[in-house]
Amino acid sequence: TVPIIETRHLKKVFTVTSGLFSGDRHIHAVDDVSIAIREQEVFALVGESGCGKTTLGRVLLRLEEKSGGTVRFRGNDIHDLSESDLRGLRKTMQIIFQDPYASLNPRLRVRSILAEPLVAHGYGNRAQIDARVGELLRLVGLRDDVRRYYPHQFSGGQRQRIGIARALAMNPEFVVCDEAVSALDVSIQAQILNLLKDLQDRLKLTYLFITHDLSVVRHIADRVCVMFLGKTVELGATDDIFKHPRHPYTRFLISAVPVADPHRRNRERMILQGDIPSPMNLPAGCRFHTRCPYAQAICRREDPPLAASAGRWVACHFPLPAEAIHATGQTT
Ligand code: SF4
Repeated sequence: TVPIIETRHLKKVFTVTSGLFSGDRHIHAVDDVSIAIREQEVFALVGESGCGKTTLGRVLLRLEEKSGGTVRFRGNDIHDLSESDLRGLRKTMQIIFQDPYASLNPRLRVRSILAEPLVAHGYGNRAQIDARVGELLRLVGLRDDVRRYYPHQFSGGQRQRIGIARALAMNPEFVVCDEAVSALDVSIQAQILNLLKDLQDRLKLTYLFITHDLSVVRHIADRVCVMFLGKTVELGATDDIFKHPRHPYTRFLISAVPVADPHRRNRERMILQGDIPSPMNLPAGCRFHTRCPYAQAICRREDPPLAASAGRWVACHFPLPAEAIHATGQTT
């Protein structure tokens, strides 16, 4: 299948000016990332905070300019578009944020919040806009009369439903969900994830799910890309990766996901030693080597390439053998 959106060797570097004598420093937030998101899939980007996943999402939507490489949406380089073409593209690509309260204008009623993108894109006259606002509220499971209320009059889950309705106003094809359920209680999280899944089926949406929470990924994603300090370290089908993580960092993240049986968790929990490298001062070789229990001499010298094997991409000199992952390494 042709990807809906694709990056090739994408880079984003931030320059930090750090005083008169030390000179500028560079943060390689996204460092040579190539991914291809397929039509109508849920593609998850995971990793700890600072791994570059949010920056990657923002560069994909051109909310941030790239430093190198390409981003193609349906074959068109989005960093090459004119302002008017970009405006057209904005309708088809949307973002849902973590904190709906911060992203909804507190002084506007729901009707105005939902009407704003419709007016900006010249959707139609007042009656048509009112009808569309009603449709959007129904779509996200809210009553029609809530259009009269202000954001503070809603619960966190309801506010996120309004955020989703606003993102869907112009019928997008591709939606970035940036930690979209992270601020919600677990029971509300499940409701919003089910709503997003249902909307995906009904509206034929493609999602990029950015999250640090692997239980969310397991619930919703078809494929996962694990990032560490700006690089992809593992990419593959969700079920496959959860059953058999092959990169030590993926294994660490999965081992930290709470499970119902506390004995199982204790047995499989992976503990990392060593320092987390500074993104401004990356170690030579594999970026994970200061924390990796499997590191050997070559890991300190050579950066492992992202290599394909059996439908999986892994960047590690010594990928974990699928059948032995629970028997090796440092566990408690
Ligand atoms: Fe660990 Fe070496 Fe693999 Fe890096 S390349 S993850 S240090 S084993």
